[in-house]
Amino acid sequence: MEETVIPRPVPVSLAVQGTQARFPVRRIYCVGRNYAEHAREMGDTGRTPPFFFGKPADAALNVADGVEGVLPYPSMTHDLHHEIELVAALGSGGRDLTPEQAAAAIWGYAIGLDMTRRDLQAEAKKAGRPWDTAKGFDHGAVLGPVHPASATGPLTSGRITLSINGQARQAGDLSDMIWSVPEAIAYLSTLFELKAGDLIFTGTPAGVGAVAVGDQLRGEIDGLGALQVRIG
Ligand code: MN
Repeated sequence: MEETVIPRPVPVSLAVQGTQARFPVRRIYCVGRNYAEHAREMGDTGRTPPFFFGKPADAALNVADGVEGVLPYPSMTHDLHHEIELVAALGSGGRDLTPEQAAAAIWGYAIGLDMTRRDLQAEAKKAGRPWDTAKGFDHGAVLGPVHPASATGPLTSGRITLSINGQARQAGDLSDMIWSVPEAIAYLSTLFELKAGDLIFTGTPAGVGAVAVGDQLRGEIDGLGALQVRIG
């Protein structure tokens, strides 16, 4: 490898269920408002085209299976929200994919938490400013291990839930998505050339809300087990 003038940043990768080999992360894309009930709770109606935002790859906080991760409560917010989401992990990419091609590009799936500084997001929306500080903060993309699609099959339906301290908060079904995972990825590929290693957070069901220090979050998606994290 070439000599560098400063230390090389550590490459970001995720654990993969059933193997020691890792899933290297290139980019993190997120779909906004992709479940009708959550879109309504955020003030939207109807099937408008999907919209996207990003998180830096190194915002990923990977929590191993059967382990409770710790998410440090981030600075500059008093309204940290949870958003449980299905995450698609791409094994290949391309531009202008059809939904069928997008489906074939999915290497695996993970449970994700699109953590959000809701107060900073509300200020940004009001002022017409970007969402980066609301969405792209350190540890703001909590992720369980990647489960190979060869083992899970395509995840098009199944329960997606989040509980805090044992109490149900978010619940939905993957089949309630406004834009299916392949449709959302196909749309995204008209905006960006997608590549192997890209992660796509596919939106959250209704019931988002605030967390506090000490809270224990447990996210579950049928076929992917559970993601457990404590707010530190
Ligand atoms: Mn989200």
